Amino acid sequence: MKVLVPVKRVIDYNVKPRVKADGTGVDLLNVKMSMNPFDEIAVEEAIRLKEKGAATEVIVVSIGEPKAQETLRTALAMGADRAILVAAAQEVEPLGVAKVLAAIVGEEQPGLVILGKQAIDDDSNQTGQMLAALTGRPQGTFASKIEVSGDAVEVTREVDGGLETVRLSLPAIVTTDLRLNEPRYASLPNIMKAKSKPLAQKTAADYGVDLSPRLRTVQVAEPSKRQAGVKVGSVDELIDRLRDLGVAA
Ligand code: AMP
Repeated sequence: MKVLVPVKRVIDYNVKPRVKADGTGVDLLNVKMSMNPFDEIAVEEAIRLKEKGAATEVIVVSIGEPKAQETLRTALAMGADRAILVAAAQEVEPLGVAKVLAAIVGEEQPGLVILGKQAIDDDSNQTGQMLAALTGRPQGTFASKIEVSGDAVEVTREVDGGLETVRLSLPAIVTTDLRLNEPRYASLPNIMKAKSKPLAQKTAADYGVDLSPRLRTVQVAEPSKRQAGVKVGSVDELIDRLRDLGVAA
């Protein structure tokens, strides 16, 4: 069984994003970029399935600018077998990504596609669901446990009230939640080895997909600043303060 893992290059989760002065987006100039954290978890899970003998090949794919190659090489260094880079000059939207992925699914016929539940730059949480719709495959989103047995996969999902387990027949689409696993670090020898693993360069046109944006960002603004807290000397003083603020009667 092949496992396909889409990985997105995003602003590093440790970086505090700065909004551009003209409010058109987030400033990415000289900002550290990394693999979307949920995608690292997806790569890790795919590699574990291969190590357990449930998968035979792990293919990673990224749709983005040439620098997304670095993200793909990271996934190869973690243990993925080969990579596909689909060049995109502009920012890509979930529907465009899902269409490209659907075409790759058609070509590669993976038994499982494991995506992140969301990309931390756009927080869309849409691509996996759209891919499931486009390919007509069953989906298990927000996975905190994945177990492949025979021609089915059991996915434990993090839902509001607790955990829900669903059984999907393969081929299927899964999206990862934070508690699924802890991704490994790539060792130096594996980073070196990853340099010679195959990385195919494609364009969206190769898959017959038009990536032109369908959404327009109206405005991006910083969240309003939180006011500094105040220390009070006693419970009575706290109640007085709350009364002044109209929070307590
Ligand atoms: P989103 O729907 O944008 O929140 O993204 C959900 C997931 O879809 C991500 O965690 C990735 O696995 C995948 N994805 C989104 N955009 C891309 C992209 N440009 N290239 C590869 N995978 C992507």
